[in-house]
Amino acid sequence: MYIIVTILTISLLVSCSTRQEKMEKRMQAFITAYEAKIIPLYKEMNLTSWNANISGTDADLALSEKAEFAYEKVFTDTKDFKELKEIKESGAVQDAILARQLDLLYDEYLGGQVDTSLIAEKLRMETGINKKYLNFRVIVDNKELSDNQVEEILRNSTDSKELQETWEAHKKIGPVVAQDIIKLVKQRNLIAQKTGFSNFHEMSLKLSGQDPAEVTALFDELDNLTRDNFADLKQEIDTYYSKRYKIPSSELRPWHYQNRYFQEAPEIYSVDFDKYYKNQDPVKLAATYYDGIDLNVDAILAKSDLYEKPGKNQHAFSTDIDRAGDVRTLDNIKPDSYWMNTILHELGHGVYSYYCDRSLPFTLRDAAHTFTTEAIAEMFGRMATDPDWMMDNGIIDKKESEKIAGDAKKALRLQMLVFSRWAQVMYRFEKSMYENPDQDLNKLWWDLVEKYQMLTKPEGRDMPDWATKIHIALYPCYYHNYLLGELLASQFYTYLTTSITASKSFTGDKAVGAWLKEKVFMPGARYYWNDMIERATGEKLTAKYFAKQFVQ
Ligand SMILES: [Zn+2]
Repeated sequence: MYIIVTILTISLLVSCSTRQEKMEKRMQAFITAYEAKIIPLYKEMNLTSWNANISGTDADLALSEKAEFAYEKVFTDTKDFKELKEIKESGAVQDAILARQLDLLYDEYLGGQVDTSLIAEKLRMETGINKKYLNFRVIVDNKELSDNQVEEILRNSTDSKELQETWEAHKKIGPVVAQDIIKLVKQRNLIAQKTGFSNFHEMSLKLSGQDPAEVTALFDELDNLTRDNFADLKQEIDTYYSKRYKIPSSELRPWHYQNRYFQEAPEIYSVDFDKYYKNQDPVKLAATYYDGIDLNVDAILAKSDLYEKPGKNQHAFSTDIDRAGDVRTLDNIKPDSYWMNTILHELGHGVYSYYCDRSLPFTLRDAAHTFTTEAIAEMFGRMATDPDWMMDNGIIDKKESEKIAGDAKKALRLQMLVFSRWAQVMYRFEKSMYENPDQDLNKLWWDLVEKYQMLTKPEGRDMPDWATKIHIALYPCYYHNYLLGELLASQFYTYLTTSITASKSFTGDKAVGAWLKEKVFMPGARYYWNDMIERATGEKLTAKYFAKQFVQ
């Protein structure tokens, strides 16, 4: 009996290990073939998109659309998906690196198991909408304004009439794209339903390794943590604006809040950060700073496109062209605190990509999750208005730093709370819009704005103001990651300043770069995001450091 059991066990072990070996071999063969296909297509997609964002021409947009289609088409291959499904369902792939690639590739292919005609239609719609945004210019008094100019007026004017006109003129893109976006939302939902999800929002989160219920719970928790504090601050804000515009608080409307969406904090504390940057070169400052913490960015900057041009995308982003060292950022830099923040932010994405372990397989040479790269970007972006950072980097002296420290801290706190409330609007709007795109979206938008941002809707306004936010159309179901990024930025920052460095701004401390490379950048997508965070900081993602930093 004993002998029989032993023989059985041995034969089971043998068959298990051969089965494991067999499946791992199949997985390796799959990856080899996959990489041969995907690497050139990935590079072509990113290069053509880069060119289109710089020129804005029809020809470049067409090339970009074509390349993206070719890339996405790879994941529609039913034979490849069947192979992955068999390997996954065997449960026999044990090797950690192979298993992780299997999980990621399975989700990626699952997202592509839809008629290519449906995907082509979706891409065509997205390109059409993108073109409308790129070519739209705000017109006030027969004068054409860039987004930068609109923001400048909203930020600096104290003339209610001018503010309202500029805000309303900017909102005119809404009706131009609203119907197109609703059609696109339905197209995306159709794709999700064909893949077995109830809507595109659910699919997007699940396929990126997030559970919508978990994210919603986190947003609810944050809402509870920030609501009362924000209500108090909002009163302070309104008192400030009431004085600034010489009108009663009850007459304050969304155009009085110094930016298009009240997504950034008003400057109610007396720190004018812009004045410190008037004669500074944000690019040079950022380059020197990153070099000092052992994260040199020269190779990234050499490939980047940093300043305004006609036709060029007016926003900012960072892109990893080939996961082999060609990392770039597109910006429209001017010497002010906004663009100082932005270049630090984009280069944060840049170093995450650039300092990835290039010996990892292609699929793992990526961030653990999109929000983990946002966390790094946001942690560095915050430095732009941090008096310690400004002093350590020669922008202000010690006396000035001490003078503004209190207000700067209050300003950042306000910024974080204002942003967290705005992100609530974005997350809940998108979730609800994909659940039911036929509802009254104009009302949904303003209901959320009133509830979470505590703004007053302009009387009788019934316009698709939600459609003026480009993210809703073109970067769908992503915005919540900015807020998760802020939570993680606080967690990383707290860990670094308690365990790694004595410098609050990290300036000149190479240990910071060394830690980031070893614990965050080099591992790439090798671990599930919450495992990476736990390995790095000893804890899974938590809101407590954000709350500790910004909620009183
Ligand atoms: Zn970012």
